[in-house]
Amino acid sequence: MSSFDLLTGRSASHLTSYQNHLLHKKVLPSLKKLQKLAAGAGFNLQLGSSYRSFEKQLDIWNNKATGKKALLDSKGHALNFETLSKEEIVFSILRWSALPGASRHHWGSDFDIYDLNSVPSPDYKIQLTPEEVSPSGIMGLFHHWLDQQIAEKKSCGFYRPYQKDLGGVAPERWHISYAPLAGPMMEEYSYQIFLKNITLSNLANKELVLDHSLKIYCEYFANVAPPLF
Ligand SMILES: [Zn+2]
Repeated sequence: MSSFDLLTGRSASHLTSYQNHLLHKKVLPSLKKLQKLAAGAGFNLQLGSSYRSFEKQLDIWNNKATGKKALLDSKGHALNFETLSKEEIVFSILRWSALPGASRHHWGSDFDIYDLNSVPSPDYKIQLTPEEVSPSGIMGLFHHWLDQQIAEKKSCGFYRPYQKDLGGVAPERWHISYAPLAGPMMEEYSYQIFLKNITLSNLANKELVLDHSLKIYCEYFANVAPPLF
């Protein structure tokens, strides 16, 4: 399987299964270590989202691009699809969802996480919203603990690529990335690969995406926080 397929979510050969999730084989020991550390601090670290295939990301994209799934503004509030131009649609999707083939979730090294012990009741559905992970939100204490682990280099190689608003993807405190794997993959993922991926995709608003491909690559893909270690 070529690295193009792996980088763009078209291959599953690098994956293993764990707790009903698919993830990169080489991340598993460190993830277990981080879960053990969390347990020691009274948290139950669970995966909300792990590996995502190209097809799955394409579904998300096309549903949002055709108004079947809600589009959100920068603060996470729903937008009125009917009033948006195609360009506004594309960039509001990109604020919260990656272009199919260019999601870090394709790599199996990145996860959306939550603390099961902080869930207020069994019927509560985890949303992964800015409110939930804010200091006063239900996951506030958990993420404060994780911040400390990262700052003290005790987070087993995990860090937050979307910790701050860098103008592209919205801050996503629930998203963590395993630097020893994701770093080299990011390095390998060139603009040429990005373009080839779009060309091969059956993507809604594809022409517009191609017109803006360099801006999207720079501002919504390559523009992530570096690991702190
Ligand atoms: Zn994520």
